[in-house]
Amino acid sequence: MSKMTSKDYMDREDKYGAHNYHPLPVVLEKGEGIFLYGVDGKRYYDFLSAYSAVNQGHCHPRIVKALCDQAQTLTLTSRAFYNNVLGEYEEYVTKYFGYDKVLPMNTGAEADETALKLCRKWAYMKKGVKEDQAKIIVCENNFHGRTITVVSMSTDPDSYGGFGPFTPGFIKIPYNDLAALEKELKDPNVAGFLVEPIQGEAGVFVPDEGYLKKAFDLCKKNNVLFIADEVQTGIARTGKMLACDHEGIRPDIIILGKAISGGVFPVSAVLADNDIMLCIKPGEHGSTFGGNPIACRVAIAALEVIKDEKLVENAEKMGKIFRDEIRNIKSDMIELVRGKGLLNAIVIRNKNGKTAWDVCLAMAEKGLLAKPTHGNIIRFAPPLVINEAQLKDAISKIKEAFKLFE
Ligand code: PLP
Repeated sequence: MSKMTSKDYMDREDKYGAHNYHPLPVVLEKGEGIFLYGVDGKRYYDFLSAYSAVNQGHCHPRIVKALCDQAQTLTLTSRAFYNNVLGEYEEYVTKYFGYDKVLPMNTGAEADETALKLCRKWAYMKKGVKEDQAKIIVCENNFHGRTITVVSMSTDPDSYGGFGPFTPGFIKIPYNDLAALEKELKDPNVAGFLVEPIQGEAGVFVPDEGYLKKAFDLCKKNNVLFIADEVQTGIARTGKMLACDHEGIRPDIIILGKAISGGVFPVSAVLADNDIMLCIKPGEHGSTFGGNPIACRVAIAALEVIKDEKLVENAEKMGKIFRDEIRNIKSDMIELVRGKGLLNAIVIRNKNGKTAWDVCLAMAEKGLLAKPTHGNIIRFAPPLVINEAQLKDAISKIKEAFKLFE
């Protein structure tokens, strides 16, 4: 059989897979650190990191070893029984982030659902909200995943359109708007405020300095749980372990996913203290795979790598260099550069019919992969193991790509 071309691979996905994604036309077969390699042998800087799941770099040997070792010993017991790894992970992750308890799940959306259930249960058991009356405040342009309840919170027609009827009980307010929050918090049935510390999918929207702290204080004043979705912003991505650390706040519930596994396995987690977490009783929530031994070992290794390789500090330092250098590029297609740590975005001004998609194609041609989010915004989020020389080389490729549109 003759060797398959990139086009053959793409045609096969197109023919047999659902059309729920619109990938850039590159076919990848290998990842190592900050690099991805195409089936044609071409090397790319990865500036998406699987939507910030691969913060520790592709195929990190320590994380992969943890996966392989555990896979040969015990993969899954379900939660019908105890196993010898889950407790070790639970102790490790709760001490790591400073919470009493963790509830392990697999995907980000599941962890968000878990947090919503936990918040509602707390409202009925602890706050005294009457049955089925609990409300949760969410922000416009949020992205928390793809389940029916999660898209019920969405204001993006691509996410919710055609998928109704929706789950009730959500109040949608503008992001970065404290007055709107304060107004809605007056409703005694409000149980929680769910927020992304930086809105990633919406295009890396960084709220005003002080917004999160003030929002947190308003929630405390009104006995409302402050719930941070750190699925994308957590695990060192923004130059702090959690993006909430930038404002020194400790959310009542933290939602983690993606990079808690270094991108080698679906792992997500919800962290809270006993007062909240123990509202859920045996049989009331769970998942066949949640907290499985492989996930636990992988997550411990992935979190160790973050600390041992000082990726928080590196993300902070490299992020500053990135924004400074990109802001110096002379291109009338660059409208705005924003971000924190290594979660950044360029807002693109279309030129002669050329869009963010065309810029991404040009960057891929030059050997760097990034993807537009919401039309005209390109997110730049390389693995956090990138060093200064590599970053500068990558930036030169971005510059070359923009030159093509002069
Ligand atoms: N929450 C946030 C903030 C996200 O960015 C994402 C994914 O991009 C999710 C939740 C959903 O995670 P998953 O795709 O693992 O369900």
